[in-house]
Amino acid sequence: EAIMVGELANRMAERVADVVKALMQNGMMVTQNQTIDADTAELIVEEFGHRIVRVSDSDVEQVITTSEDKPEDMKPRAPVITIMGHVDHGKTSLLDAIRNAKVVAGEAGGITQHIGAYQVETEAGQKLTFLDTPGHAAFTSMRSRGAQVTDIVVLVVAADDSVMPQTVEAINHAKAAGVPMIVAINKIDKPAADPDKVRAGLLQHEVIVEKMSGEVQDVEVSAHTGQGLDELLESIALQAEILELKANPDRNAEGAVIEAQLDVGRGPVATVLVQKGTLHQGDIFVVGEQWGKVRAMENDRGERVKIAGPSVPVEVLGLNGTPEAGDVLNVVETEAQAREIAEYRAQAAKDKRAAAGAATTLEQLMQKAKDDKDVTELPILVKADVQGSAEAIVQAMEKIGNEEVRVRVLHSGVGAITESDIGLAEASGAPVFGFNVRANAPARQSANQKGVEIRYYSVIYDLVDDVKAAAEGLLSAEI
Ligand code: GDP
Repeated sequence: EAIMVGELANRMAERVADVVKALMQNGMMVTQNQTIDADTAELIVEEFGHRIVRVSDSDVEQVITTSEDKPEDMKPRAPVITIMGHVDHGKTSLLDAIRNAKVVAGEAGGITQHIGAYQVETEAGQKLTFLDTPGHAAFTSMRSRGAQVTDIVVLVVAADDSVMPQTVEAINHAKAAGVPMIVAINKIDKPAADPDKVRAGLLQHEVIVEKMSGEVQDVEVSAHTGQGLDELLESIALQAEILELKANPDRNAEGAVIEAQLDVGRGPVATVLVQKGTLHQGDIFVVGEQWGKVRAMENDRGERVKIAGPSVPVEVLGLNGTPEAGDVLNVVETEAQAREIAEYRAQAAKDKRAAAGAATTLEQLMQKAKDDKDVTELPILVKADVQGSAEAIVQAMEKIGNEEVRVRVLHSGVGAITESDIGLAEASGAPVFGFNVRANAPARQSANQKGVEIRYYSVIYDLVDDVKAAAEGLLSAEI
């Protein structure tokens, strides 16, 4: 197991330069983006007078070491699905339809409550977990906080409308995250439905569905009539099978916060999706900068439960504060430990904010690339005033670089730079280029907070030149 020098410094809340110096004194010439092994890291940690606080015996987070789960302990788990797509194409309707169709009538607590995620079962008995917050804002903000929760994206496209800007955004988000997609062609009940037009539209964005001899599953559905719903669930189950999703249920739980709020009567409440291990009532945990002890848990049907295993969403009571969506929950051994880690993180976050703006400017990307021989891609986002310009820019970008370095356009689109663009940029460490467009106010604010660089241009040449210079910086770093 290894850790990056910069990351180690960050976790100890020490200056990177001091850590590099200490390593040199131990005969190791490394830069901040190089990794060192756990033994060396432990030595350094002790030299700096820190103690290694492990989140649990088998766990990563707080400090360095992580023991992998043994293959024989890994058991199949349900896939976690996020529904994305353009506004009004039926994401919410589809989520509701799936939930309503699959909740057994008359079952205790048959009416589901909204906790941010729910689980259903296919005819064949395969469990599927759906995140109940449609759209890519939640998806990206979770990812930028380090929580990769989604296993499969269901891309909803209305059959009477076809591919729209947010459809393209969703495709790019899924691609950037490396999450497989299934296309749900919705509103198939409508007289104006033209599913082949949807398929052709997707083709233009390099999403080749099965009906067009590609590999992306596509299913015609109607959230209104229920047509195709079972088929969609089977497709998801099939995709999940291919992914061979597994987790070790017999270890201290680790999970991600899907939603959290301060409830007047109950105090801070968080919906946690367990990702590894099993969460028990009474477990002590740390979650982001908060900690707590599981006082009670409720499942998506509002029933009290005492345990929750991998891929199961539960509402957790017993927190000392309200965490944020995307925060990771780890079960620890003692309350003292939980408190210590939470305080450490709160301090580290404060320090990080103090050193703000430290994220992703073009210069920093170049510097990073110089330090780190592995960075061979320059990720960028492009927004332009008209489709023609956007296309011209993307084409020019694709010509920059060689086998060692290339520019990767994560997303390009027409219109103002939005919060969603900033979210994607942050998650992938990319700057955003605006060509004859500006960022709207929320996007500007979000970019400031997250330290995402926005650059404005009105001449394509200038834009291309700047990116070329950055790419050349990467190239020369390779030599
Ligand atoms: P979202 O913005 O993607 O969450 O879309 P909604 O679920 O809110 O749906 C937008 C509109 O499309 C609503 O008026 C729905 O009633 C309608 N709608 C959604 N699914 C279907 C469908 O399968 N068939 C028809 N005819 N209308 C649908």
